[in-house]
Amino acid sequence: MNEIANKARAAGVVGAGGAGFPTHVKLMSPAEIYLVNGAECEPLLKVDQQLAAKYAHQLVRGLQLAMQAVGAREGVIAFKAKYVEAIAAVQPLLASNMRIHILKDVYPAGDEVITIWMATGRRVPPAALPKDVGVAVNNVLTLINLARAVDEDAPVVDRTLTISGAVSDPITVTVPIGTPLREVIARAGSVTVDKPYFVNGGPMMGKLISSIDQPVTKTTGGIIVLPEDHVVIRRHRQPMQDVLAIARAVCEQCNLCTELCPRHLIGHELHPALIVRSANYRDIGKPSVLLSALTCSECAICEQWACPVNISPMRINVALKAKFRAEGARYVGDLRPLDPMAEHRLVPTSRLVTRLAISAYNKKAPLDETASRSSRVVLNLRQHVGAAAVPVVQVGDTVQRGQLVAEIPADALGARVHASISGRVEEVAAQFISITH
Ligand code: SF4
Ligand code: SF4
Repeated sequence: MNEIANKARAAGVVGAGGAGFPTHVKLMSPAEIYLVNGAECEPLLKVDQQLAAKYAHQLVRGLQLAMQAVGAREGVIAFKAKYVEAIAAVQPLLASNMRIHILKDVYPAGDEVITIWMATGRRVPPAALPKDVGVAVNNVLTLINLARAVDEDAPVVDRTLTISGAVSDPITVTVPIGTPLREVIARAGSVTVDKPYFVNGGPMMGKLISSIDQPVTKTTGGIIVLPEDHVVIRRHRQPMQDVLAIARAVCEQCNLCTELCPRHLIGHELHPALIVRSANYRDIGKPSVLLSALTCSECAICEQWACPVNISPMRINVALKAKFRAEGARYVGDLRPLDPMAEHRLVPTSRLVTRLAISAYNKKAPLDETASRSSRVVLNLRQHVGAAAVPVVQVGDTVQRGQLVAEIPADALGARVHASISGRVEEVAAQFISITH
């Protein structure tokens, strides 16, 4: 393992953009281009654009280290033009082999595969990885964490996230990992609706939160508060049998979900209209049509934007994915020609905001890094892709902020976990370690 990857491993750096892939593993695969995904295309989330402006030096340093680790000849930072402060802060720091790429303000510009295509012209084949086309990708916070890991031996103990939606004072805060969501939401003033629901992530790709007593993890990018009757919440709460019943009753086979599916547009077989038809009539046609559900990014364009009769091809894909994964099935398929209209069929963010009925919530959420004073944190042992970390502390131990509390199991893919506050280990369970101050 190279020294930079080794430092990332030691610090527990994982992809902060969502999946939490261990960064040290990514830093061990050669790539020609290192891409910083600074698109932050989910409406209402304001994390990366503000961190890039405030910590521009660390972002560019992280990119330089990542490029060195994988032997990249070019570094590309993808921003939207409206991130004026981030661009102004980063541009003067760029080395001659780095550039900023300005993305159109469309959704899903931040989907890794789409960002790669927009910023480099390379298309990742279905079921392939960015490294298969010579590209490595991380988001802004991940590379800032990498710079801190290498230059300061600083482990990942904090997370920056936006609290937005139906709250009096939308805000972007940095808190110790493991802080209960309830405490973080309180930093955004008061909730302004009677029956609030909470979404972890953005309104398009986020997941409904079952309890706000859950802790912040390394991949928690935002909490969106919405009223019970909001269209986004109604979608999330719709039972699967209703999704299937509606699909059977009203699908017009208009094909719009396929014509606007970003993955289909860039040449993937994924064809949500045919998948809906297959689910409706058991008219499977080629088995690969159904298996291509495994390549769905869950961007929600088909359900929140394309379908005129409120069907959710995405939900059907999610159900198929679970079934296929349980069976160990894999999708195999070639990259097809790019749709000549692809660039023009991605969705303008401004129109998406209107369609999602979130215009009233689309406000600034200024970054406030005032230290949070949580007296108890719960550190999930699996905040990343791979195996759960193995505790190396016991109940009653005194730990310092930044101290290692859980190690990667031998010969496994995973990430370390560190104490995010100083205190006493209260509980060590199969899924988590809690620390009280
Ligand atoms: S969620 Fe729908 S639009 Fe998005 S990739 Fe999947 S099938 Fe395509
Ligand atoms: S957009 Fe809706 S109605 Fe049209 S084919 Fe897709 S699921 Fe059916």
